[in-house]
Amino acid sequence: MVSEPGEDMSESIAMPAAGAVEAEPTGPVVEAHELTRRYGEGDTAVDALRGVSLEVARGKLTAVMGPSGSGKSTLMHILAALDTPTSGYVVLAGTRLGDLSDTEITKLRRKHIGFVFQFFNLLPMLTAEENILLPLTIAGEKPEKEWFEGLLKTVGLTDRRSHRPAELSGGQQQRVAIARALVSQPTVVFADEPTGNLDSKTSGEILELMRHSVDSYGQTTMMVTHDPRAAAIADRILFLADGLIVRDLPRSEPSAVIAAMDELTGD
Ligand code: ADP
Repeated sequence: MVSEPGEDMSESIAMPAAGAVEAEPTGPVVEAHELTRRYGEGDTAVDALRGVSLEVARGKLTAVMGPSGSGKSTLMHILAALDTPTSGYVVLAGTRLGDLSDTEITKLRRKHIGFVFQFFNLLPMLTAEENILLPLTIAGEKPEKEWFEGLLKTVGLTDRRSHRPAELSGGQQQRVAIARALVSQPTVVFADEPTGNLDSKTSGEILELMRHSVDSYGQTTMMVTHDPRAAAIADRILFLADGLIVRDLPRSEPSAVIAAMDELTGD
């Protein structure tokens, strides 16, 4: 069982339920329409996505699973406007991404997207607090003080705020990265293998934190994972194989996730 820092999470932030999103009350937050992504050309071309359509529900945690090379990261990067599809398109928070200029994409990402990486991607010279605030600092904004202190408490970093990443454990660094993704209350948080570089106990704590941000803030989240235990905290699990969505499960026990993966890989 996971103990700190989840225990005091529920009362730690007075967060309006609709705070994570703007005034779009219904409908999917992210839509993908017939996405394809080809890397390279000619004989060596790789079709990483071969026609993926999906809708991501507001205020839910969606997991994406699939064998290595099935296209999970490619899909996440395209949905998060970090990459563009070869064909097809994405609608994020009501905006069709392909129609935007670079400046508009930057603005859209700043406002609507938080990203959590497997290897944390923190800036080593900045403190935990400065790393968390970076998305706002870049935008020339400051957080509401009470909200920010609540966020620090939620992620269990109140007494580590002045530490630099090198002075923090892997789990603490990922907490910083999660807080950085949450700080601007984006429309959707994408997490690419957020526990992939952490031990089992720390992974459990990070998963609890991800789940908490969905339950308490209504933070729409999409997470790529290899780990059936991680997928089992999701409200929905999409399975990719060879660039296609081949299975779509509701919330499931780890054993059901493992069975579905075994079916895919033929084990
Ligand atoms: P996953 O995240 O499921 O492991 P990826 O999306 O990383 O899958 O990769 C899907 C396929 O696309 C794989 O065959 C991979 O080798 C290929 N691929 C990914 N990125 C590139 C790239 N930048 N250049 C060429 N091929 C790539």
